[in-house]
Amino acid sequence: MTDILILGGGPAGLTAGLYAARAGKSVVVCEKEGFGGQITQAHQVDNLPGLPGISGIELGDKLCAQAMDAGVETSFCEVVGIHWNEDGTFYVETDDGPINARAVIFAGGAKPRMLGVDREEALIGNGVSYCALCDGAFFRDRDVAVIGGGNTAFSDALVLAGICRSVTIIHRRDSFRAEETVVQAVKNTPNIRLMTPYTVKELVGADQVEGVILNDGTKLDVQAVFVALGRVPDCSLIEPLADLDEAGYAISGEDCMTKTPGLYVAGDCRAKTIRQLTTAMADGTVAAMAACEWLK
Ligand SMILES: Cc1cc2nc3c(=O)[nH]c(=O)nc-3n(C[C@H](O)[C@H](O)[C@H](O)COP(=O)(O)OP(=O)(O)OC[C@H]3O[C@@H](n4cnc5c(N)ncnc54)[C@H](O)[C@@H]3O)c2cc1C
Repeated sequence: MTDILILGGGPAGLTAGLYAARAGKSVVVCEKEGFGGQITQAHQVDNLPGLPGISGIELGDKLCAQAMDAGVETSFCEVVGIHWNEDGTFYVETDDGPINARAVIFAGGAKPRMLGVDREEALIGNGVSYCALCDGAFFRDRDVAVIGGGNTAFSDALVLAGICRSVTIIHRRDSFRAEETVVQAVKNTPNIRLMTPYTVKELVGADQVEGVILNDGTKLDVQAVFVALGRVPDCSLIEPLADLDEAGYAISGEDCMTKTPGLYVAGDCRAKTIRQLTTAMADGTVAAMAACEWLK
């Protein structure tokens, strides 16, 4: 029986693990994709106090190493079920076998919002990508499109402009959510062009993206489409045990506990207003300390 099982090895989960392990609890952090979470996709992080300019990958590595040094056990597995037992403990199913835990911290983060067009899923890895930093290099000297109008879309476009021949940002509005400095940087980059207000109606190409068709019928010849439309939570695993808001984020109290005693939520999957590294780490801290207190 593990004291605390943490679902998700992102900043929230690893911070929770660090605090709980330092408090003397046995902790297992389950991660299905890569320890470090979403931030490993960031080229550079400039707003984490004390660590200006750190790369996302280095930050993820440091978070993981620090948690492990503190005694956290890491498990590279996917959690597929969380069950609350009558005695108040949890039975957690993973694709690597079951784990029994006295408390659970759900820190599953958020995943990319899909574009929502036909064959999008089938073309993932063949021209459809949700991570410019991860996949941009596959399209060196090619023409690509970025979909979205926020900071991620604009930052992606800047990264891609250094690799690809041309980058077209397609956005459904004439105004952008991205910060003005980033918008200006994009406007000053000769191989980036903005197309607004347009939406993508169709992906062209049988096995590989060859272009996109826009809502007015215009066809753009691009070899990749980078979707940067923000992220959505997936709290379905705890849905019966936790209330979700209308957008699917898990509702918890100040102490991050859900309506199920011993089940906590932390990070981007939690209903709150700001989703950043600092708030994910803060949630991880609060959830871990509250779980340790609850275990007493
Ligand atoms: C490109 C990019 C740049 C960013 N730049 C910044 C920045 O500069 N500054 C800033 O403050 N924030 C930035 N962010 C946001 C920041 O990364 C997030 O707020 C933060 O990572 C949230 O941490 P988290 O632990 O809640 O979630 P995540 O980082 O999403 O981690 C959740 C983890 O849970 C895992 N998981 C999910 N389901 C399961 C399951 N069933 N079983 C096992 N594991 C599971 C996922 O694989 C993931 O690794 C950026 C995000 C992106 C995508």
